[in-house]
Amino acid sequence: RGAVSPEAGADERQVEGALRPRSLDDFVGQERVRDQLSLVLDSARKRNRAPDHILMSGGPGLGKTTLAMIIAAELGAPLRITSGPAIERSGDLAAVLSTLQEGEVLFLDEIHRMARPAEEMLYVAMEDFRVDVVVGKGPGATAIPLDIAPFTLVGATTRAGMLPAPLRDRFGFTAHMDFYTAEELERILHRSAGLLGVPLAEDAAREIAGRSRGTPRIANRLLRRVRDYAEVRGDGIMSLDTARATLELYEVDELGLDRLDRAILDVLLNRFRGGPVGLSTLAVSVGEEAETVEVVAEPFLVRSGFLARTPRGRVATPLAWAHLGITPPPDAAF
Ligand code: ATP
Repeated sequence: RGAVSPEAGADERQVEGALRPRSLDDFVGQERVRDQLSLVLDSARKRNRAPDHILMSGGPGLGKTTLAMIIAAELGAPLRITSGPAIERSGDLAAVLSTLQEGEVLFLDEIHRMARPAEEMLYVAMEDFRVDVVVGKGPGATAIPLDIAPFTLVGATTRAGMLPAPLRDRFGFTAHMDFYTAEELERILHRSAGLLGVPLAEDAAREIAGRSRGTPRIANRLLRRVRDYAEVRGDGIMSLDTARATLELYEVDELGLDRLDRAILDVLLNRFRGGPVGLSTLAVSVGEEAETVEVVAEPFLVRSGFLARTPRGRVATPLAWAHLGITPPPDAAF
């Protein structure tokens, strides 16, 4: 994984635990979502009932897991964590649902990747707090209804639009998680530096925030690398110079582009005159899987206005030519 990938590996999730905000007040940014949530939670507490089911949509590393933990903590409820890919059969889901405690918060990450039959089971559970357990096979099979404890489902997905409407409709509200502003990331970085116990200069925080692609996970990861550098090769202080040296070492440029991002732009401009070029051709040219290019690199390139996806293929924008300091040919496609 690159230094600016928004996804986390299992090891990284372990380290991340230490930097997680534990309360809504500690959670930086996402004003609207925080406001919506605090209303739902306050009202549930007042009525002494489990709140409506909550859907969170947004890219990896924006704080969905963190918010689910905060929801459970604010309700004083236990939390169960599972994910769509872990639910391959409806039996997997039945096992989870039937062992929930009253008021428990069930966090279902990547809910759009759950098996279809399980989805049907989830509809009933969400609406009626009931699971129909099928016993036997073929014509003799019977469904035995089983009451389950009232719970709150917190579903997370990268795109709410990908969910089937009947599932989407069963959530009380959808929290749309946006990318963070540079100022919000700076606040997160200062908070994290405090927890790590390593001094962070204002200008260093600004530098790291600017290269973190609007994503707290990336900001915290870059911070940990700057901390390493400061402790091993520096004077133990995360200064601007240390931050710059670290980011250069990890090949993260001033806009947060890494080596793969720049390779893609380089090939697109220098070999294909700015496109249009197909995804698979582009991927082969940079020596990567098409999926890596599409899922890891492209979203940020598109969001930053360097690349456009058109029906005829990928096209570089004028900004891409400018960023690489190349004059576009007169017939460039944009
Ligand atoms: P994924 O979908 O990949 O599981 P996620 O959206 O669930 O990602 P989290 O695991 O919640 O992301 O957050 C990643 C890291 O970023 C955590 O270490 C967390 O502490 C930090 N973080 C996320 N959002 C915030 C925030 N608003 N304030 C402070 N830290 C945050």
